[in-house]
Amino acid sequence: MIEIVEVTKRYGNKVAVEKLNLAVPNGELFAFLGPNGAGKTTTIKMLCGLLFPTSGTVKIGGYNMSTHGDEARALVSYVPDQPFLYEKLTGREFLQFTADLYGMPIAYGKSRMERVIEMFHLDEFVDTLTERYSHGMRQRTVFAAALLHEPKLLIADEPTVGLDPKSIRELKVLLRDLAKQGVTVFLSTHTLDIAQELADRVGIIHNGTLIGCGTLADLRKKAGSDGTLEDVFLKITEPSEST
Ligand code: ADP
Repeated sequence: MIEIVEVTKRYGNKVAVEKLNLAVPNGELFAFLGPNGAGKTTTIKMLCGLLFPTSGTVKIGGYNMSTHGDEARALVSYVPDQPFLYEKLTGREFLQFTADLYGMPIAYGKSRMERVIEMFHLDEFVDTLTERYSHGMRQRTVFAAALLHEPKLLIADEPTVGLDPKSIRELKVLLRDLAKQGVTVFLSTHTLDIAQELADRVGIIHNGTLIGCGTLADLRKKAGSDGTLEDVFLKITEPSEST
């Protein structure tokens, strides 16, 4: 689903991502980790088609983001860490607006709206203005909107921050279910225990370079540690402190 080949992104002289190679197959739940400033947001923006690589190629579902951006973007949904909603719309109006943006046929849009309202238990508040929503209600509405057009790739940036334990549990179940249904989930997070629990594979980016990628077992081998993902992450990203 994701093919990143030899991707470098520079902002002026600053290299944010360097010679990144990464392939994520259909239905994989992939966790993308890295310290602040490592290049995660830059990579995500390139996956969404919001930024283009300085060199190299990004393909989504076989479509090159630089030459077939519309086809590639149609497969992707992105949930940012700050759930954005139009405050003067109700949740239902926001979902309708999203369906219209994606050009969904009316009947399909309507049935998908009913489905996501049910999936995320929005019925109690979906007809209230979103300015009155709590963080958890916002997050559920944003996820509902993101899944409305049945994307093949869901990119979620720190989706569990600010959620209560019950919502975190529901989100974890949702992400695993999506992957089981064949949706590729690309999760960027600092919450290493969630990454360890959920991810099929983990990629660690540091100073713009992918310095580790694989299952927890692969990364443990690389780090020479049989600890948790947190131990492995710290060992790989801060080698001088752990030796
Ligand atoms: P992360 O999401 O892992 O914190 P980013 O992708 O935001 O990392 O940033 C990677 C590097 O690129 C950082 O050194 C950051 O300062 C730099 N950077 C990000 N955006 C810009 C920009 N618009 N202009 C210049 N440098 C940037």
